[in-house]
Formats: sequence, structure tokens, C-alpha cells
Amino acid sequence: MSKFTDNSRPSYLSQNDLGPWGVYLQQIDRVTPYLGSLSRWIEILKHPKKILIVDVPIEHDNGEVFHYEGYRVQHNILRGPGKGGVRFHPDVTLSEIIALSGWMTIKNAAVNIPYGGAKGGIRVNPKNLSNNELMRLTRRYTNEISSIIGLNKDIPAPDVGTDMQIMSWMMDTYSTKKNYTIPGIVTGKPISIGGSFGRQKATGRGVFIIGSKIASKINLNIINSKISIQGFGNVGSVAANLFFKAGAKIVAIQDDKTTIYNPNGFNIPKLQKYVTFTRSIKDFNEGEKINDSKEFWSIPCDILIPAAIEDQITINNANNVTAKIILEGANGPTTTEADDILRDKGIILAPDVITNAGGVIVSYFEWVQNLSNLLWTEQEINLRLNNIICNAFNAIWELANTKKVSLRTAAFIIGCTRVLQAHKTRGLYV
Ligand code: NAD
Repeated sequence: MSKFTDNSRPSYLSQNDLGPWGVYLQQIDRVTPYLGSLSRWIEILKHPKKILIVDVPIEHDNGEVFHYEGYRVQHNILRGPGKGGVRFHPDVTLSEIIALSGWMTIKNAAVNIPYGGAKGGIRVNPKNLSNNELMRLTRRYTNEISSIIGLNKDIPAPDVGTDMQIMSWMMDTYSTKKNYTIPGIVTGKPISIGGSFGRQKATGRGVFIIGSKIASKINLNIINSKISIQGFGNVGSVAANLFFKAGAKIVAIQDDKTTIYNPNGFNIPKLQKYVTFTRSIKDFNEGEKINDSKEFWSIPCDILIPAAIEDQITINNANNVTAKIILEGANGPTTTEADDILRDKGIILAPDVITNAGGVIVSYFEWVQNLSNLLWTEQEINLRLNNIICNAFNAIWELANTKKVSLRTAAFIIGCTRVLQAHKTRGLYV
């Protein structure tokens, strides 16, 4: 466990179980010995800069008033404004949001875009709310966090349980408060109000690009390769579709309710259409349903893509994984102990901070277009995305081989070095 000095322990989290923030701290501890003299500044990465907890009361359609707990955390803003998504999920905790904000800091630095790291969320099941309730919740939350977000301060985006519509309401609420239209306050918006071509598919596209690069390095042919995916939302379904189009067989899919299996591979476009209407893979009439969700992890496959939430590949299932490659579409899906087991099994794990960076890279393009009133074509966006993510990946791959460390450690070395160098250069304000 990470070494906090006594007077720097976070009083706002349980000391017995730091949750996902504990996993983030372990990852920082692992990389510290590789940071040379910059390690003197490492504590900055263990201390989130600003944490806002907000009460979000809304009136439900039946007239009852409910209070939801929301958060916005700016982990680090040394290299630029805070940047990170907003999550609506029933299991959201402060520890989770702080950890996700920390991973955003590392990710943005690892791919070298000029942002710090931030994240927000509300503990709520959006599937239980009507459209109007969801709109009221989003608007009230935006109002509550409007004191700390801003075009050059902190720019939210979609994450689990939020989408383009929610970004539109956030943009409208913030703009209305300021009395002028500010498209760049959020990214992941619809094109009609300043969104970017390619943004919606960018994270899944990044997962596909990284997967294809690693596959070619180990001579794994994508055609007829077998892929299992946890999470069939924005990231999972887009990655599934790109691998499907490239000739892979998506043999197993799991969402929050159901696990389905088809050794011949699912028809992904058909499943995508089905999920658009049902919001779940439940009762899809192809393949077989697996009743014990834990069995998902031992289904034979070449590539495993966790694309749902944190803490999924753990000491309890890492030994069962048969894949040659794991692509972390989700943020923080693998615990530190599981990382070690997977490494000992010879599995190549492409870490979240590079694998799912496509989303924030194209968010950055969206923000740049908003700031300069430009509109780039989808082709231009995809080309720029490809350049940034491939350059970052190549540097990480090379460093991992030179230093004989995992891809995660290599990505963290690059990310942490950039943040700590910025900290050293700026110096401490006294
Ligand atoms: P989403 O809400 O569109 O989809 C989430 C999917 O995960 C759904 O299919 C849901 O049913 C499933 N899920 C949720 N809880 C689950 C559980 N306990 N077990 C199995 N499945 C579960 O979310 P998304 O935008 O696709 O995000 C997925 C992951 O990717 C998250 O970790 C998110 O932080 C990360 N990510 C998203 C983006 C983005 O641009 N959307 C960018 C970078 C990283």
C-alpha cells in the first residue's frame, strides 16, 4: 500500500479500504523507483488538488424530492485545464472518482495532450430515471459544479451512464448561466452544437488501433481471432464493431445484467441495433446465455477487452484468463495483484491510460475546434488520432522493452515524468 506520511493521509477516505484510489496509489508507488531525481516531487500525484462534493436534489415525476450525491475532482492541473468524464452509475464513490481523475492526469500526460486530470459523477442509476428526471439531475449537477469547471479550467465529457444528450444539457445549463453560448465547456457533444466528427467512436477506435498494433507484433491474425468483451456501451460496442469488420469473431459479451456466448461470433451490427432499443444485450436471440457471470473470464479467447468499470480482473479470476492480449477499454479494470498474475502468465496487457485514450484525444480536438471556430473532417480527425495514439504507443512499447517493465509501468513512467517535470519547472508557490 502506498506510503502516506501521517499528516498527509486523506481524511476523506476510509484508511482500511482506499478502493480504486488505493489501486492508483499502488501503481504510482511501482513507478516511483524509475523516476530518478523527479521522484522528489512524487507526492503531488498522490494528492488530488481539488475535491467538490455536491448535493443534487431533484423533483421526480411523481412529485417526490430525491437527493443524489455528486462529485467533481480535479486531480492535477499542472499541464493544463482539468479534463475527464462524468459518470452516472449506482456504485459511484468518492474513492472511484478520485482514482479516475488520477488516471486522467497520467493518460493525458502519457499521450502528451495539454491537459491535467479531472473526473466527476453522481451516485445514481440513470436507467431508473425518466428523460425529464435525467435532464433535471444533469442541469442541477452542472449548476452545483459550475464554480470549478470552465473553458480553460476543467472540461467535462461523457463516461459510463452519460452521453451526448447529457453533454448538451450541461453545455446549455452552463451557457445559460453565463449568458452566452460556450460550446467548449464540455466535449462529446452532438455535431449540431459544436461536437466533433469522430468523437463518439474515438475511444473504441483507439482500442482497435492498439489491439491491431499489438496483434501484429505477436503475429496474431485478427481475422478469425476470438474476442471477449465486457461492457457493450460506447467503448465496448464500437471496439466490437471495428474488430468484427476486420474479420474477428466476438465470441462472448457481458453487460451489467447478462453474459452471452457464441463460439461462431455474434453479428455485431445486429446486436448494436438491438441494444439501441433495449439498452441491454439481455434476451438477444443469438448464442447462448451464461448464467454464472464469473464464467465470462474463463471463456477461451485470443483478445479480452474489459470495457465496463474498475476492479473486474482480480486475484479471483486472473488465473482463469486464456487471452494472449488484454485491451483495457475501461479505466482501472485490473487490480495490481491481477497485473502480476497476468504478467507471469505471459499475457500482454495494454493499459487503460493508452488503450482508451482515443476518447480524450478527440475530445481535445473538439475543444481546439470550439476555441478556434473550426470544423475538421472525420478523415482529418481519424488521421490525427492515429498519429497521436500510435506515437504514444510506440514510445511506451519501446520503453517497456528497454527497461524490461510492463506496458503499464512504461506508460506511467512517461506520464509521471511529464507531470513531475512540469511541477519542477513551475516550482512551488509560497
Ligand atoms: P457506457 O455507459 O456506454 O457502457 C457501459 C457498459 O458497461 C454497459 O454495457 C453496461 O451494461 C456495462 N456494465 C456496467 N457495469 C457493469 C458490470 N458491473 N459488469 C458488467 N458490465 C457492466 O460506458 P462507456 O462510455 O462505454 O465506458 C466504459 C468504460 O470505458 C468506463 O470504464 C469508462 O471510464 C471508460 N472510458 C470511456 C470513454 C468514453 O469516451 N466513453 C473514454 C475513456 C474511457
